Amino acid sequence: MFCESNKELKTLVEEARTYTKDGKVADYIPALGKANPNDLSIAINYPDGHCVSAGDVSEKFTLQSISKVISLALVLIDRGSKEVFEHVGMEPTGDPFNSIAKLETMIPAKPLNPMINAGALVVTHLLKGSTNDEKLDRLLAFIQTLANDSTIGYSEEIARSEYETADLNRALCYFLKQHNRMNEDVEQLLNLYTKQCAIEMNCLHLARIGMVFAMDGVDPETSKQVIPKEVARICKTFMVTCGMYNASGEFAINIGIPAKSGVAGGIMGAVPGRFGIGIFGPALDDKGNSIAGIKLLEMLSKNYRLSMFGATHENIINVFNN
Ligand code: GLN
Repeated sequence: MFCESNKELKTLVEEARTYTKDGKVADYIPALGKANPNDLSIAINYPDGHCVSAGDVSEKFTLQSISKVISLALVLIDRGSKEVFEHVGMEPTGDPFNSIAKLETMIPAKPLNPMINAGALVVTHLLKGSTNDEKLDRLLAFIQTLANDSTIGYSEEIARSEYETADLNRALCYFLKQHNRMNEDVEQLLNLYTKQCAIEMNCLHLARIGMVFAMDGVDPETSKQVIPKEVARICKTFMVTCGMYNASGEFAINIGIPAKSGVAGGIMGAVPGRFGIGIFGPALDDKGNSIAGIKLLEMLSKNYRLSMFGATHENIINVFNN
C-alpha cells in the first residue's frame, strides 16, 4: 500500500512522541510487554486513495479491542440489530473495559455495550460459522476486504499469550453463562476471542478501515457498500460513546472524532465523510489508551478543526467577535 510520508505530520508525531515516556506498554498480556514504548506512527487515508503518514508505518501491532468494533459490524450484518441488541446493550459504563462490576449489580446481567470485554465476548459468540476456524476465517476475510490486503492474519504468539493468561475474561464468560447470556464452551470462545484480538496489521491498514467507516461503509475504490450504511452508523456511534473505554467522554469533548483503541497501542479514527486515521503508539495511559496517540489526535483535531461536534472554544469566541 503506497503512503506518502508527510513533513507536517512528522513534526506533530515528534512533538507527541515526547509523551510516550509518561506511558507504559500493556504487559497483562505478557507478549505485548515486548513492544517498544517509544514507537509512534500515523497514517491518514482519504477516499480518493491518497494516503499521508509519519513515523515507522511498517510496524505491525495487534488490534486487541479495535477488533470489537469490526466483529460487531460483522455480527450486525449476520444477524441484524434486533437480535444483537437482545444480547448486548447500548450504554457506556464509565468502568474499565474488563470490569465485572455492572454485570453483577444490574438485573438482568446483560453487558452494557459491545466495546467492553463482557459485551465483546457476547458479540464474538454470535459470529456465524460452524467451527471456530470458520468464524475466524469469515472475520479475517471481512477485515482483509476493509483493509484491502488479503495477507492480513493473526499473531499466534500473542493469541496464545492472552489465552494462557485470560482468567478475568474467563470469569466474565462463566458469569455470562450462568446468567444464560451464552451457552458456548468457555474455552472455545476464549480461543476464538484471543485470536480475534491478535489480528495483526500496520497503521496504514487501520487508516484504510477507518476510512471505510468514515464513508458510511462504502469502499470508494470499488464503489461497493462493504458495510451497510446503518451498520457503519451504529459502529461509529459506539466509537463516540464507548470507543476509548472510560475516557470516551473526555475524548469526545477534547477531540470529537469517532475512534476505537486497543491495548496494543492502536487507535482507529473515522472522521465522518472525510478520512480514516490509523495510529500506533504502544505506551498507554492509565485507562489503556495510547498516550501519545491521544496527544497526536488532540493536536490534529485542534489544528484542523476535526471535531464532529463543531467549533472549539476559540472558534466560538471568534464567531462572537465577528
Ligand atoms: N484482548 C484484550 C482483552 O480482552 C483487549 C482489551 C483491550 O484492548 N482493551 O483484555
